[in-house]
Amino acid sequence: MIRIGYGMDVHRLVENRDLILCGVKVPHTLGLLGHSDADVATHALMDALLGAAALGDIGKLFPDTDEKYRGADSILLLKRVMEAVRQAGYKPVNTDITIAAQKPKLRPYIDQMRARLAEAMELEVGRVSVKATTTERLGYEGEELGMTAYAVCLIESL
Ligand code: MG
Repeated sequence: MIRIGYGMDVHRLVENRDLILCGVKVPHTLGLLGHSDADVATHALMDALLGAAALGDIGKLFPDTDEKYRGADSILLLKRVMEAVRQAGYKPVNTDITIAAQKPKLRPYIDQMRARLAEAMELEVGRVSVKATTTERLGYEGEELGMTAYAVCLIESL
């Protein structure tokens, strides 16, 4: 059996925060604000995985009221989500992620991001797609107030 999941997430851009996307620290003047490391792309991916297995969402698994997730490395949280998906009897087939951000240019970091996620998901890198787009200066992404990430993920029975 195969199942599909979808996830999306938004985080605000602020000064004095690291910009972490798919577990990769991207040099930039602004970073994403959040309770954890605010890795918007990994958050969207986790919600896609959880959605595919109908296991709820990351807010349920890792409440932002819980002090133990303050500054949490989202790649470690992704590994926990993978465990939950495996326990439910599934493994991922592939994933495709889109990050909407006006700046910085993400292309130089895409392969590193794919490798980071593939390792955490125990998948070949060829099954992990990460794409980036601007929004042509429109909306909050275009005004550099925040970033959005969208993810779809296919899973199959173990
Ligand atoms: Mg989030």
